[in-house]
Amino acid sequence: MAARNVSYGKCFVCGKRVAKSGMARHLQQCLSAHEPEAKRKERLFLIRAEGRYAPGYWLYLEMPARATLADLDGFLRDIWLECCGHLSAFEIDDVRYKLDTDMVDGMWEGIFGRSRRALAMEETRLDSVLQLGQTFYHEYDFGTTTHLKLQVVGEREGPHPRGNVRLLARNYAPIYPCSQCGAPAKWINVYEGELYCQEHAEESEDWEEAFLPLVNSPRAGECGYTGPSRRSLAFEEPDPVLSAQGQ
Ligand SMILES: [Zn+2]
Ligand SMILES: [Zn+2]
Ligand SMILES: [Zn+2]
Repeated sequence: MAARNVSYGKCFVCGKRVAKSGMARHLQQCLSAHEPEAKRKERLFLIRAEGRYAPGYWLYLEMPARATLADLDGFLRDIWLECCGHLSAFEIDDVRYKLDTDMVDGMWEGIFGRSRRALAMEETRLDSVLQLGQTFYHEYDFGTTTHLKLQVVGEREGPHPRGNVRLLARNYAPIYPCSQCGAPAKWINVYEGELYCQEHAEESEDWEEAFLPLVNSPRAGECGYTGPSRRSLAFEEPDPVLSAQGQ
């Protein structure tokens, strides 16, 4: 049944459950219906981010057109990606935009040299490289890489979002079966690549060393990723009970 493949998420403006493909249109109507008229307005981009090879993980964000790529990178790290300070890059129209963290991967660049010229995220405003409808890409960690695909799906005049990014919608966590019993999985055994429920994870001989939590992120199970470090972002996780109804 085709309906099984529909990915649902939560609109944080009104609380409704909406299909991924209808969310951009929903948000445009929902914001104009629910948001009080702002005194000061500026140009905002509505951006959809998703796992490039795991499109069931997705976010809708609103950002000022004058914010930088570094602001967007920082938000993606906070909610989905950050494990140990790896390098990251955007690719927009065949140009790379990098942010050097001077941490784990910095030395590799020193050894292998810079293969391609890259511009700085911190110095690149969104409206200097993006326009409505445009698709672009992000990579986090050049070893165990998490690939994201992004698109500018809307544009409006509206109030400045606090912190330069407003999270408007997010997918409900997909539910996957435990490889041993079929109950909802909570853990990934990274040695085997198999999913486990709580009970079977604790029974596994690899329990002490090989398990990462199955978090709501395209980076689940990669490197040492265990979920967002900021409590405020964990709070914005949609209720998993509702996601079961979407299956
Ligand atoms: Zn809504
Ligand atoms: Zn890492
Ligand atoms: Zn199980």
